Amino acid sequence: MSASHILALDQGTTSSRAIVFNADGVPKGSHQIEFEQFYPHDGWVEHDAGEIWQTTLTCMLGALKASGLTAQDLQTVGITNQRETIVLWERATGRPLHRAIVWQDRRTAPLCARLKQDGLEATVQAKTGLLLDPYFSGTKLAWLLDNVDGARARAESGDLAAGTIDTWLLWNLTGGDVHATDATNASRTLMFNIHSQSWDEELLSVLNIPRGLLPNVRDSAGDYGTLRSDILGHEIPINGIAGDQQAAAVGQACVEPGMLKSTYGTGCFALLNTGANCPASKNNLLSTVAYRLGGRPTYAIEGSIFVAGSAVKWLRDKAGLLSAASESEALAQSASDNDNAFVVPAFTGLGAPYWDPGARGAFVGMTLDTGRAELVRATLDSICYQTQDLMQAMATDSDKPPTVLRVDGGMVPNNWFLQRLADLTGLRVDRPQVTETTALGAAYLAGIGRGMFGSVDEIKSNWALDRSFEPTMQADERASRYAAWRSAVARVRTQ
Ligand code: ADP
Repeated sequence: MSASHILALDQGTTSSRAIVFNADGVPKGSHQIEFEQFYPHDGWVEHDAGEIWQTTLTCMLGALKASGLTAQDLQTVGITNQRETIVLWERATGRPLHRAIVWQDRRTAPLCARLKQDGLEATVQAKTGLLLDPYFSGTKLAWLLDNVDGARARAESGDLAAGTIDTWLLWNLTGGDVHATDATNASRTLMFNIHSQSWDEELLSVLNIPRGLLPNVRDSAGDYGTLRSDILGHEIPINGIAGDQQAAAVGQACVEPGMLKSTYGTGCFALLNTGANCPASKNNLLSTVAYRLGGRPTYAIEGSIFVAGSAVKWLRDKAGLLSAASESEALAQSASDNDNAFVVPAFTGLGAPYWDPGARGAFVGMTLDTGRAELVRATLDSICYQTQDLMQAMATDSDKPPTVLRVDGGMVPNNWFLQRLADLTGLRVDRPQVTETTALGAAYLAGIGRGMFGSVDEIKSNWALDRSFEPTMQADERASRYAAWRSAVARVRTQ
């Protein structure tokens, strides 16, 4: 058989995954491994970069084995990754200097507050499309340079390299040959000008980051070097990279202005394609690069919610209310209609549109009748209300407001949740047949970069519907529930 398959590496927040796709985007074999989360202090979240690389390696081998194919059958490799998480390593040895600081980590809230006080938020927003929140990589990298012994001097003398997880994996996959990232990942760092598509000297100087630490920024589909031959026994070109949410938008074929996808994994991230136009949000959403092909960026408006599936994981692992995440479906269904408990899952602060790193979670409105089922339902509801927050902001930010939500991620097998999502947002919710859209998007981008597909338009016809969920809730009920949600959120806000 001639090489016609694509290996997609999907390095997520809680697990590493690899999937082999055929040229029609059909999964042929996959492998997934969970890895350790480190929470050294309140609001701090770290990963072991070495473990991220090792689990990725094992997943590549596992996926190939599961597909029944060999490395000779692979035409190209694509990478997608948890975004904003930052690694700092030694160029000579590839050894990380510290654990990776994860996107959820809030340790740089004081630095962000200081930069805000210095009046820098408008500049940051105009250049990067982002806000001054610890979520983004730039302040995390500054923290590493300031807090790891000797790091700053070594960074200035050129000993060190930095990058988001795509860059870290690429460095390892190519045996240290390629230090690069793509425009979607760069657009999440707080250091990249999304209009000029280059690292921004003013922001680098504000954050005190030496330019030489940073990777070369390339198109999302193109030449990223070669997978070294000792890994799978055969050299394979690497041709696609995108951050996980942007890859999911491609995997969902949201390639026209007005198309929207919403992914429900650890967090929830909604991206609305705005085409060649890069609108500035007036409602605290982000402007970001959806993908860049042939040097031309396609932009998106993004709403980022930090806690979605991780609230269900919390119900399972910490609150002991579930034995499995999937149990939430039947329990929510059985909850009493008379209960009005709300959960505000601000475990790691609040993201869009509130941007409040100091907020923490709360249960509000409980009575003696509120039980396990009601708390589980309130948790799932909170993810729907947060989506509604984003949809309202998007509706006023864009001249093409969303009408349909294309959903994916670990939570979407839950039918009750998707029906509730349709009811509480008032939008139709469409679930595709392939819900591994993140990996699929990386595979498509690699396929485009390798010339297997001519353009993103060619992938549109591959998208297939599994099931639609139509809203059935009355508009006045939706409005009064949403008002109650907003007052629950008001109770946990610190700014
Ligand atoms: P990530 O890629 O961010 O690591 P996934 O897309 O794999 O995450 O989604 C995993 C999340 O989905 C977990 O946080 C889990 O709690 C949640 N989850 C999994 N199955 C269900 C379900 N049936 N109902 C609700 N939540 C679920």
